[in-house]
Amino acid sequence: MFWRGRKGGGGERPPEEPQQPAPGGPPAGGDGPVGPRFSGAVGDLTPDAALDLLRAGNRAFLSGEGVLAQVSARDLAMVQGAQHPFAVVVACADSRTPPTLLFNQGLGRLFIVRVAGNTVDRRGLASIVYAVKYLKCPLVVVLGHTGCGAVAAAQAVVEGRAELDPALEEMVTPIIPAVLQARARGAADLADASVEENARRVAERLRTAETALAEALAAGRLKIVPAVKNIHTGEVSFFG
Ligand SMILES: [Zn+2]
Repeated sequence: MFWRGRKGGGGERPPEEPQQPAPGGPPAGGDGPVGPRFSGAVGDLTPDAALDLLRAGNRAFLSGEGVLAQVSARDLAMVQGAQHPFAVVVACADSRTPPTLLFNQGLGRLFIVRVAGNTVDRRGLASIVYAVKYLKCPLVVVLGHTGCGAVAAAQAVVEGRAELDPALEEMVTPIIPAVLQARARGAADLADASVEENARRVAERLRTAETALAEALAAGRLKIVPAVKNIHTGEVSFFG
């Protein structure tokens, strides 16, 4: 593991997280998505309860009831000892898709991995494993979005409308299989279908990519859910 080595390794817990709340213990603070506080731990949640919290947060964002404007530096006091996020969100780097806003969650709530096209490389995977194995996150959401430029670039390459820019190869190449699969299905809207297929494929890969994730899934401690955000409305649709 990447945090081992400097002191000879050996510890199961990474040194930067020395004070995690005890399993089953009281939450360190926070009142859910519509309470007066929006930062800090919400306590130990089942995967389905964590998903419900994201759904509720997205509804608050959509209805204009999001209150992240109330989150300020004073909230840091609620998370300075440790973090206990209830969800990992693998999201696109697109400036219109910030998970904290879309799900109305303040400090300490979401563990976010963002890269254009919401794909996962080895570093991203290690980050996800860290959040699940050591921070005990019960939920991983792979969040694509309609109108994704990275997916559009992959689609343009597949359709022969553009050459693959070598500088963007690491971003575009992992998405191409999703476009091919969506096209093979005869999708009416290849752009939207490719976005959904990409999120589904990344989620599926995560299910088998690392033993720690597979074990948590098998034990019912984890769900991995693909999702797509509508770029126009902000609504997030979950698939699973
Ligand atoms: Zn995107």
